[in-house]
Amino acid sequence: MQIVFVGPPGAGKGTQALRLKDHLGVVHLSTGEMFREAEREDTDLGRQAAEYFRAGALVPDEVVVGIIAERLQQPDCDAGCVFDGFPRTVAQAEALDAMLAEAGRPLDLVLALEVSNDVVSQRLLGRGRVDDTPDTIRERLRQYDQLTRPLLEYYRGQGQLCMIDGTGTESEVFTRVRAAVDAASAAQD
Ligand code: AMP
Repeated sequence: MQIVFVGPPGAGKGTQALRLKDHLGVVHLSTGEMFREAEREDTDLGRQAAEYFRAGALVPDEVVVGIIAERLQQPDCDAGCVFDGFPRTVAQAEALDAMLAEAGRPLDLVLALEVSNDVVSQRLLGRGRVDDTPDTIRERLRQYDQLTRPLLEYYRGQGQLCMIDGTGTESEVFTRVRAAVDAASAAQD
């Protein structure tokens, strides 16, 4: 299956995507992780991306779409993918649809984790990552509202959107995620 997680930073996309990856035996694709790894390895991509994410800004669409296009060529992706943090703009979603259509593996489901801005701000401050300062958190939430939230309408229009209550424990949220995925695969059978 090809599944996308959408939600503000701190909504629990990473945690839930990893659990779903184990549950389904698919590949976990996190563009944020790819950028952090590239930064650790001090590659050109890492240095370029770090300028954006340290400021709480989105990395440009061409760069993000480029690394995903390359990653999707690798054979392990044949098992299916859980996308975590990608797409984050409508342009990225359109590019993903085109890439998946070309690969003959259309998107099955989009899971949107709903959590209030107050809760995500608290979670992010507690996480202590280098891009989690109060200023960058505010900026990332602003970017989410402006650039990423429109994705919900895009996917709703395609009939692929499932809203998930992202509050409660990780296990409570995962129970909701699993139910949504099970319902989507039953509907396909
Ligand atoms: P994440 O770990 O998903 O929160 O991503 C960390 C940072 O990487 C984000 O704040 C962005 O600066 C950048 N990033 C990750 N994924 C994307 C994406 N799909 N589009 C643009 N920027 C991204």
